[in-house]
Amino acid sequence: MMLSRSGALAVRSSWLVQQTAALSTSSVRNKSYELVVVGGGAGGCATAAKFSSKLGKGKVAVIEPADMHYYQPMWTLVGGGMKTLENSGKPMSQVLPKKADWIKQRVVSFDPANNKVMTDDGQEINYQYLVVALGLQLNFSKIKGLPEAFETPGVGSNYSPLYVNNTFESLKNFKQGNAIFTFPATPIKCAGAPQKIMYIADEYLRKNGKRDKANIIFNTSLGVIFGVKKYAEVLWEVVKERNLTVNLRHNLIEVKPDSREAVFQNLDNPEEFKTFEVGKVRLVASSASGRDFDVHLATTIRKCYGPLEEEIWNAPDGSTERPER
Ligand SMILES: Cc1cc2nc3c(=O)[nH]c(=O)nc-3n(C[C@H](O)[C@H](O)[C@H](O)COP(=O)(O)OP(=O)(O)OC[C@H]3O[C@@H](n4cnc5c(N)ncnc54)[C@H](O)[C@@H]3O)c2cc1C
Repeated sequence: MMLSRSGALAVRSSWLVQQTAALSTSSVRNKSYELVVVGGGAGGCATAAKFSSKLGKGKVAVIEPADMHYYQPMWTLVGGGMKTLENSGKPMSQVLPKKADWIKQRVVSFDPANNKVMTDDGQEINYQYLVVALGLQLNFSKIKGLPEAFETPGVGSNYSPLYVNNTFESLKNFKQGNAIFTFPATPIKCAGAPQKIMYIADEYLRKNGKRDKANIIFNTSLGVIFGVKKYAEVLWEVVKERNLTVNLRHNLIEVKPDSREAVFQNLDNPEEFKTFEVGKVRLVASSASGRDFDVHLATTIRKCYGPLEEEIWNAPDGSTERPER
């Protein structure tokens, strides 16, 4: 069937109307907003919802390139086999506030002196106020051999939608030996996540009659089992009761998938390295992350742009106000 030029145009314009009705996306160049939020994850989405409901339509923009919005805390349950990755995601169009304009682009540069940001398709978006909510960038390549190791059985990370399914696969296929959970020496999305999956794995292996074949190890870069003392005290009792080994100041620096080994550095004595042999299948729940923003941690106000300080806010990671704190 041939479509006439006007027919094609009509189809296209009705598609456009539908898109606009479904969501206020914007491709207009050089737009101005009272508030621009960069990143539509948990932090950006919540901020945009709050302010767009107060300021009204067209005053707030969210710049976010991803099609899917993930509820990341659920990845603990995905790694433990209680939920699926699909359960944790929704189309971005369904979660961003309707009163905010969604600019479906990636921000490539900031121009705070002129109150604008640039997107990868060349748009300049002006703001009166800016909230940067870019989350954390996963840098798995900081651990030698790790990106490649994810392609081999038994290595997973609950911090990434790409590798979280590996965790439950590893758990299901576990036969015997060391099951190692790690906490890296970088900022991470959730300080509890490495331990949460360890306790879930412990329970899973008990229920499936394999716990006596597993040596469950928590190698953490920290000098404490948890940063909040009252919880740490309880957790020490839990790990003792469940026969889980905790090694403090152990930082994963290399994974050798061929020889099935994980190498850890002693952070108190950086010349000392310990290699852990792993069993038939190993579990490495790890995150190496960090996105550099020079922020004052107590207030989250970005430090560098003197007079603009009060106009630029950094939501370093949406979990800053973690309920457990
Ligand atoms: C396994 C796991 C368990 C967790 N458990 C808990 C918990 O129990 N309690 C808790 O409080 N928190 C928990 N968290 C942490 C919580 O999920 C995160 O802190 C939160 O999702 C971070 O939100 P965010 O908006 O800062 O970042 P993100 O949700 O990561 O969003 C950042 C957004 O920025 C976008 N972006 C990236 N680059 C650009 C760019 N150049 N331009 C525009 N946009 C860009 C991305 O596409 C993304 O949508 C957990 C996290 C994980 C992974």
